[in-house]
Amino acid sequence: MREASYYTKLDGSRVECLLCPHRCRIPPGRSGICLTRNNVGGRLQSSNYCRPVATAIDPIEKKPLFHFYPGSSIFSTGPNGCTFKCAFCQNFEIAQTLMAVDEISPDRLVGMIAESRTLGVAYTYSEPTIWFETIMEVGVRIRELGLKNVMVTNGYIEPAPLADLLTVVDAMNIDIKSMNPSFYRRICKGELDPVLSACIRVKKAGCHLEITHLLIPHENDDPAETEKLADFIAAELGPDTPLHISRYFPRHTMDHEPTPEALLNRAWEIARAKLRYVYVGNIIAEGKEDTRCPECDAPLIKRSGYAVHLTENLSVGKNLPECGNCGTTIPIVL
Ligand code: SF4
Repeated sequence: MREASYYTKLDGSRVECLLCPHRCRIPPGRSGICLTRNNVGGRLQSSNYCRPVATAIDPIEKKPLFHFYPGSSIFSTGPNGCTFKCAFCQNFEIAQTLMAVDEISPDRLVGMIAESRTLGVAYTYSEPTIWFETIMEVGVRIRELGLKNVMVTNGYIEPAPLADLLTVVDAMNIDIKSMNPSFYRRICKGELDPVLSACIRVKKAGCHLEITHLLIPHENDDPAETEKLADFIAAELGPDTPLHISRYFPRHTMDHEPTPEALLNRAWEIARAKLRYVYVGNIIAEGKEDTRCPECDAPLIKRSGYAVHLTENLSVGKNLPECGNCGTTIPIVL
């Protein structure tokens, strides 16, 4: 337990949390929507501070990050709770239910990450923005060790705490779940605009950014919506920003059928007309997980599941790699 960083005191010992756009007003003895920020005697406490709900060593491609140290592994962990209530939540057991998790010291967490001898740490699994205090404390020390901090997030965070996180975080994957505000309100119990704003801020800060879009039949599979998403990414984040179109499976309270492969292929074709690096995930999709040169189509990185093969076409340039076939700069951090 630790006092939260972003909140203000109101009358009657109530507090207003300023971490995410919900800006919960919380009476004494109660918690916010995320379940893990509690008003204890008129002070807001982060009850998930340094309580990792799960730990594992994962391929970086599983986050998914395809343009950030491809082929490496990363220590992965995250907190209990979430700022959204997605009907299709893939990790609802840890995101939507309070769990008893032992608190460990920041020293111990940093030690576990260092001992993993991986690229660094991915804050993931549930919603890491509500691990703000933990990430700020652990993240600084991870940087000092020469390791990387990665966040896999819904992007639902206010500008000031996001700016703080961007001082320690090296790469993010942000979910854009839909381009339809009513989807966010109805299915996630949140708002779209703050997520889009966060994506723009992350990109402008120079943090490596990739976007994930879970394609759900009947909910966000309209070709016009895919086109709108690709237009937003191309215009606001740049056409080099990788987009992962991910297959949905029924989970939690949503029971639509899994996304048919034909819908994923259609969305991939639409997005590829505007973006240079579009991938299909959560399904074995021959060739659609590979990185190809956007100019000459030479294969650069071949992927099958989590097996990654950097081809001889990917050559080391002055700052970023280049296509060995045509010399085009390829925005991948190696
Ligand atoms: S972080 Fe949690 S408590 Fe704070 S505003 Fe968001 S949902 Fe509410």
